[in-house]
Amino acid sequence: MAEQVIRGLGVSPGVVSAPWLRFGSQLETSAQDPVGDSPERELARVKDALGGVADEMAARAARVSGVAAEILTMSATMARDPGIVAATEKELAAGMPTAHAVHLAFEGFCAKLEALGGYMAERATDLRDIGGRTVAVLLGRPMPGIPEPGYPFVLVARDLAPADTAMLGDSDVVGLLTSEGGPTSHTAILAKSLGLPAVVNCPGTDLLVEGAPVLLDGTTGEVVIDPSQARQQDAAERAAADRARIAAASGPGRTADGTPVHLLVNIGTVDDAVKAGPVDSEGVGLFRTEFMYLGKPSEPSLDEQTASYTAVLEQFAGRRVVVRTLDAGSDKPLPFLDLGTEENPALGVRGLRIGTVFPQTLATQLTALARAGEATGAELWVMAPMVATSDEAAGFAALARESGLRKVGAMIEIPAAALRAVDLLTHLDFVSIGTNDLSQYTCAVDRMAGGLAHLLDPWQPAVLDLIAMVGAAGAAAGKSVGVCGEAASDPTLAPVLVGLGVTSLSMSVPALPAVRAALSAVDIDRCRDAADAACAARNPQLAREAVAAIVGHP
Ligand code: PEP
Ligand code: MG
Repeated sequence: MAEQVIRGLGVSPGVVSAPWLRFGSQLETSAQDPVGDSPERELARVKDALGGVADEMAARAARVSGVAAEILTMSATMARDPGIVAATEKELAAGMPTAHAVHLAFEGFCAKLEALGGYMAERATDLRDIGGRTVAVLLGRPMPGIPEPGYPFVLVARDLAPADTAMLGDSDVVGLLTSEGGPTSHTAILAKSLGLPAVVNCPGTDLLVEGAPVLLDGTTGEVVIDPSQARQQDAAERAAADRARIAAASGPGRTADGTPVHLLVNIGTVDDAVKAGPVDSEGVGLFRTEFMYLGKPSEPSLDEQTASYTAVLEQFAGRRVVVRTLDAGSDKPLPFLDLGTEENPALGVRGLRIGTVFPQTLATQLTALARAGEATGAELWVMAPMVATSDEAAGFAALARESGLRKVGAMIEIPAAALRAVDLLTHLDFVSIGTNDLSQYTCAVDRMAGGLAHLLDPWQPAVLDLIAMVGAAGAAAGKSVGVCGEAASDPTLAPVLVGLGVTSLSMSVPALPAVRAALSAVDIDRCRDAADAACAARNPQLAREAVAAIVGHP
């Protein structure tokens, strides 16, 4: 069969060539299936099945760590939700067969989540997965999920439920290909944290014949079906050359002429910190503190918070740790900060704005951070998320300094803040650009919306122009300008960001070596030329081509 090429969104770099297998699909249920003898007994079976699924999720959570463990714990909580039992009871009372009653109950909740859109709609995948597992238990059939063929393979799916992505690290999966999902889906985030090449949002996966080889490029998003022997050989050679080139660079980040670019990592938990501590990095550029609060029914006390932050900072004695204060609300709701229902939570009370509704929560966090900073030898920097105006920046800086914090900054995630970066920097010691949110607000597109992913591209010239404004403001003030969104992990974009005036890049641990190697190959003048060329381009594709012509492909 001749080669065929399909294209999606490359979300986790690397090239891999292997046979592909489809994710084990959900079992079908129907209203025509045989009905159990008594609704009460059937409900008891359902409760047992749900309990078993919850226990299995919790046991899996205990075997893994970090984001994967949090996701699995959340799934276990969903399986224990009494609302599911109540909805199933109703379906059983209406005469539905047991497995179908469970299916209908879960679908009812999924439809509600999907109607809410954004983050909540993405949770429907998680919930549907729990429903599928419960149905499999009730029918005595194998669990839907990741195949275990005993050889390396590329996993193909519509989108992956967190419970399954969380087990990827333990499987034979060497690459991921999904027809749905966006750049911020669980699939994308976990693939990156595991260093697995991944392409999402790829139409045409139905062209694939199971078991046939595919060649997947997680950088370009290109997928070659039935690649020729020559192409497979070429990909293997390129991958080996890449590995050698990346392994050759180490130590602090710098361009070919020695201009320093601090290379830092993103973390969210104590566990992440313990793992990232020994990594060859200059510290942490983004500690997403809200990850420690997700799923907690009440606000952790001052002492608890101090202990957690101390445990994180201890891992980085002598190095920089940029801590972001709570970024709750919108896509990261916290149970103990009840913001009521908002029509458009991404434009509502989130990030630093939470501090105006719950001032004590912010004050406690700042005090805990100051105490942890005193107790450890890390160089503590603290910044606020979602700052829009220079008055907000001034207010936050005053509060943080009163709490005893010395290095205070803000994230630039809102175009207004980028446009007035000069004003913001009069109050702050540094800024860090969150390109995930900056892209969403610049092009007015929900960052969770896979179908609009092309508008979330940080290579959009309008986003680059805003970054250029922040870079220039930082240079004029002699203050540090970081990038800590996903854009920082793109080795092709790194020289552009540096050319725009960015002085540090913070990313997931597996992404760092490739970015370090890419920077070490270009001097600062080339970075500036690349930045000029990218900003002069009319669209992301032309920007990428113009930059490649100047710095080559990393
Ligand atoms: C960002 O918006 O780019 C960012 C780093 O913050 P988060 O992804 O946590 O919103
Ligand atoms: Mg953000």
